[in-house]
Amino acid sequence: MPKYNVYALCNACGDLHPMEISVTLDDGPVEKQSIGDRYEAKDLPANLATLKDKRVQCPKTGRQYAQKNDKQIFLVPIN
Ligand SMILES: [Zn+2]
Repeated sequence: MPKYNVYALCNACGDLHPMEISVTLDDGPVEKQSIGDRYEAKDLPANLATLKDKRVQCPKTGRQYAQKNDKQIFLVPIN
């Protein structure tokens, strides 16, 4: 099954930071794509449903944030 690293756009510095999580998805994208775009017309897979609540560390500000916009959370295929 295809495996993905998950990244979240940072509200503070505007970069993508790793969410330190990897997921496997039957119907994931072949290239980097946001969760919101990929699953726009579908139900969100269960293993993605909690990502919006997960705290992400920003290495530049040292602060944590939660990315609540699923169009700013990205799946990146692991080759
Ligand atoms: Zn940041």
